[in-house]
Amino acid sequence: MVIAVIGSGYVGLVSGTCFADFGHEVICVDKAKDKIEKLRNGQIPIYEPGLEELVDSNVKAGRLSFTTELTDAVRKADVIFIAVGTPSRRGDGHADLSYVYAAAEEIAASLDGFTVIVTKSTVPVGTGDEVERIIREINPNADFEVVSNPEFLREGAAISDFKRPDRIVVGVSGDRAKSVMTEVYRPLYLNQSPLVFVSRRTSELIKYAGNAFLAMKITFINELADLSEAVGADVQDVARGIGLDNRIGSKFLNAGPGYGGSCFPKDTLALVKTAQDHASPVRLIETTCSINDQRKRSMSKKVISAVGGDVRGKKIAVLGLTFKPNTDDMRDSPALSIIQALQDKGAEISAYDPEGMKAAVELVDNVTFGNSAYDVAKDAHALVIVTEWNAFRALDFSRLKEDMAVPVLVDLRNIYGKDEVAKHGFSYMCVGRPDQE
Ligand code: NAD
Repeated sequence: MVIAVIGSGYVGLVSGTCFADFGHEVICVDKAKDKIEKLRNGQIPIYEPGLEELVDSNVKAGRLSFTTELTDAVRKADVIFIAVGTPSRRGDGHADLSYVYAAAEEIAASLDGFTVIVTKSTVPVGTGDEVERIIREINPNADFEVVSNPEFLREGAAISDFKRPDRIVVGVSGDRAKSVMTEVYRPLYLNQSPLVFVSRRTSELIKYAGNAFLAMKITFINELADLSEAVGADVQDVARGIGLDNRIGSKFLNAGPGYGGSCFPKDTLALVKTAQDHASPVRLIETTCSINDQRKRSMSKKVISAVGGDVRGKKIAVLGLTFKPNTDDMRDSPALSIIQALQDKGAEISAYDPEGMKAAVELVDNVTFGNSAYDVAKDAHALVIVTEWNAFRALDFSRLKEDMAVPVLVDLRNIYGKDEVAKHGFSYMCVGRPDQE
């Protein structure tokens, strides 16, 4: 089976590479010439553990190639995955579908023989209908079906998520497309990953419903963290106490600085907008969005109080910039809001992230970047852990204390305990564990 993947970013590149690893012939297409150039030279434009080796072996096996030429790839393909970005539209928060529709227009003219066109991008309900309309209008004789197949992989664990998914959701109406999609996912299907066939609109909604639910779960435990601080309870014990109930589950119950990343913020907002458009508001999600927005910025108050109530002129060292570990993705990272809020109060920020600094340079001003946690901690009045990279889990506090102006640790991911840092003379603040502060 020949597969073309339009858009070779976090989702397109991982999906395309994994499809090649399943044995399909895959052509990854991207408009960004530099990205394709790098890929052709064996360089991976994003940081994703294990991806470089998988790309390399599939290129060598002749199953995976990269191009900027959409036309040839589309002509050859039995299945075309659209995996372009769907960011928030500036101004109103709806999903910006211009990249999806532009891809559909480009695809339309070059279709040759029966082709299944799959929206892998996260798209609002009804987008598949519009993609179908666009293609039909441009190429009335084309033989095609439009399918929805949302992606659930997580950056940082993308390959294992793609190869061992909890489920594969396919929104499809025709039998021809259904059998093609079964063939595409055959190796996973044989491994007993459930293939869930639903209508196209249902499939589109499942993706948003899933992300909204997870965002709501995170926000729930974050609010309970604040309440724990107010009443003298420990949110981590609360999370464990409820998470062991199978109906609730223990995942996504880690209190922290608020969710970020390339999906939850934009997808929750897009769902809110879709629901409002259909006069069927999702008020829980509306509230989730506003709580989370406020939370990210309000984390700066913890830092300010940890340094005695005033950060003006003080150096604050930020450890971790990406929205989570094991990715270089900075989109909507809580670090951005926290840094801005601290700068607004006059703090001088130094920062280190193992993979995110290249992207961060473009997104923050007046931040001094360093080469390690120790480098940025020099003369700092507080060290703030924003992202729980492994590199920050076993810090040498004796060394840090010697270099810092004041030994203060603000741990927004609760990766330490008060006792282990207090014995090195540090004062410690965390999230939702008052007796630790
Ligand atoms: P991305 O920005 O990393 O990649 C998108 C790529 O598409 C870019 O490289 C861009 O140059 C390319 N592109 C845009 N228009 C094109 C065109 N007409 N022809 C060829 N290439 C084109 O985005 P991403 O993070 O991979 O996300 C893609 C989609 O997948 C989004 O809808 C996102 O919501 C969804 N998604 C993302 C994740 C994730 O963890 N990143 C997880 C699940 C779903």
